[in-house]
Amino acid sequence: HKMDVSELLNDLNKPQREAVAAPLGHARILAGAGSGKTRVLVHRIAWLIQAEGFSAGNILAVTFTNKAAAEMRGRIEDILGYPPGGMWVGTFHGLAHRLLRSHWKEAELPQNFQILDSDDQLRMLKRIIRAMELDEAQWPPKQAQWYINAQKDEGLRAKDIQAGHDPYSKNMLAIYSAYEQACQRAGVIDFGEILLRSHELWLKRPDILAQYQQRFKQILVDEFQDTNTLQYAWLRMLAGSSGHLFIVGDDDQSIYGWRGARIENIQQFDKDYQGASTIRLEQNYRSTGNILKAANAVIANNSERLGKELWTEDDDGDLIQIYNAYNERDEASYLVEQIRKWVENGGKRSDAAVLYRSNAQSRVIEEALLQAAMPYRVYGGLRFFERAEIKDVLSYLRLVSNRLDDAAFERIVNTPTRGIGAATLTQLRQYARERGISMWHSAIEMLNAKTFAARAGNALAAFLTLIDSLTPEQEGVMSLNEITQLVIDESGLKAHYAKDKTEKGQGRLDNLEELISATKQFHKPEEAEDMSDLDAFLAHAALEAGENQADRWEDCVQLMTLHSAKGLEFPIVFMVGMEEGLFPGQKSSDDPVRLAEERRLCYVGMTRARKTLYLLFTESRFLYGQEMMQRPSRFLSELPSSCTEEVRARNNHISPSINGVRGRESQTLNETSIKTGQQVHHQKFGPGVVVDTEGSGKNARVQVNFKHAGSKWLVLAYAKLDIL
Ligand code: ATP
Ligand code: MG
Repeated sequence: HKMDVSELLNDLNKPQREAVAAPLGHARILAGAGSGKTRVLVHRIAWLIQAEGFSAGNILAVTFTNKAAAEMRGRIEDILGYPPGGMWVGTFHGLAHRLLRSHWKEAELPQNFQILDSDDQLRMLKRIIRAMELDEAQWPPKQAQWYINAQKDEGLRAKDIQAGHDPYSKNMLAIYSAYEQACQRAGVIDFGEILLRSHELWLKRPDILAQYQQRFKQILVDEFQDTNTLQYAWLRMLAGSSGHLFIVGDDDQSIYGWRGARIENIQQFDKDYQGASTIRLEQNYRSTGNILKAANAVIANNSERLGKELWTEDDDGDLIQIYNAYNERDEASYLVEQIRKWVENGGKRSDAAVLYRSNAQSRVIEEALLQAAMPYRVYGGLRFFERAEIKDVLSYLRLVSNRLDDAAFERIVNTPTRGIGAATLTQLRQYARERGISMWHSAIEMLNAKTFAARAGNALAAFLTLIDSLTPEQEGVMSLNEITQLVIDESGLKAHYAKDKTEKGQGRLDNLEELISATKQFHKPEEAEDMSDLDAFLAHAALEAGENQADRWEDCVQLMTLHSAKGLEFPIVFMVGMEEGLFPGQKSSDDPVRLAEERRLCYVGMTRARKTLYLLFTESRFLYGQEMMQRPSRFLSELPSSCTEEVRARNNHISPSINGVRGRESQTLNETSIKTGQQVHHQKFGPGVVVDTEGSGKNARVQVNFKHAGSKWLVLAYAKLDIL
């Protein structure tokens, strides 16, 4: 099915063809969702190879998520008819990491450097802030983390920043600086550091840069609107004076402003590369007329747009379905029901995507899917490699590979508990800090000096021996899979989790099994040739978290945040939690800049749908630890009514009472007639709707959302609720 040159331009419209076959040079494609930007980019790659005679090795293509990168690779392979060997296709992080692995020495990193994820980073900052004797309440680690990441996204190190006179900037800077030292000492780097380091590597070593500039003559970037300062600088540096940049983007889909993305880069590009051609695409090939009209109407409420309207030749299609749910469980069961119908009518489960604003929303939906025995897969969020039990095992493996990794040491030195207490750890930390050495070496020195009481000392010594015993004497004597198996068995983690007889405990054991399969299936990528299997796997786990999630089910419902849905498309899409305070979020309500970004996110979500789009909101939701009454999102009111259809909340749930009589006169709610959605009346509180029930018999309780009195839990036997 390989396409030859003539075919490459066949299934493209005129502006798309112009873009794909553009003369060599810099080019910018600006276009709305579903207009074929990614398709053009992929065809351009094939064009460069087949018509312009570049080799795959001359091409580097960047995008934002692992899933998008994998999809791009697949599409390129389909067109070329063979895997594009030597081509670099990946995320910014993935590609920059690859550079650092090849030039670790020049980048001043240990060969087996490890990657800190944001959870590790936060723990590390906590320790640093404590060690600096700053008050954690006043200097929250999260804030420091945010500060440091923002500086790195701008390409700034602590030494580049002028300390202000105010205590805030002084302390943040001091924390940043201490954190940099701690990372360097431990041989670990965080996500922001990956890109910053590789940028500095090029600055410092023009000879290395030149080598890559000579190689990558063609650089293509998808989702350019979400590049931050450093990413754009990185691209410009790589392009140098002879490489060509081909960027595609949509200002209306910029959704990472909160993480330093600069929408302005799209405009700046035109100034930085004068003579770059700009091509606009306006025909949408993805969605039906109604979906497109509605998405256009929502985004039209934003000002300061580059401005473009999308049109389609497609029919209007189904109306957008708006479902008013009682609560989040009702919301979940409704969507499960719709997916079931879709599947019964011959659709695939994987055609359906459930998109939410925040990760926490997935749990209730996951439960409903589990209950319906409907396989699903969660992208993003607490991904496989981020789950506690997996991170425990990975920390053992990290320490096996690198004794200097303090973050790993701290995580597992007493997990499972082995009698190494807080006091011992405090002593260790202090010793390490004073001498600027690792926790591991501090432990050895302090044990030699017999600093600890007998019990603590023995426990610590046993821990060191354990780690040594897990470490293969030389590389290659044990496979990655064997080491992992050994760690899981010998560390005590397996026994520890086996003690937990609940479903959760079983789930953790399942995950450990899954990790063993993951190590078995792991293939070392080409760029990791010089690394041990173990180090390559650890890097993979840190970078590709989520990709290797239990994938036993081929056909499963797709769950992800709105952010991680960018660039993807699905026949049927559910956007849940369309409520004020959730989407747009609380903090965005009275901040126009944030609100505009939330609206773009809404536009991104809606334009993922090809055929059917469901928008769901609830009347009440358990949020921040309490039941909240919810109002529909303002975005719903921005939809043209001609495109939407309100699916009424299920009413009239009056089920016959025990004796089957359903009289005309009012009846009192009892255990058998109870149903969520039931409209009731209370003598004191007035009218309301049942949203939840608990317990049975004398203990049966109902939760009612009263129209005027708010939400209340009532004991059924005493409440005397009349059925309306
Ligand atoms: P997004 O902004 O969401 O990333 P996009 O602009 O990258 O969208 P694509 O994903 O490339 O859009 O294309 C959207 C859909 O339209 C895809 O299914 C693609 O195959 C299809 N498509 C694009 N152009 C054409 C065309 N000329 N003929 C037929 N189908 C097309
Ligand atoms: Mg795209």
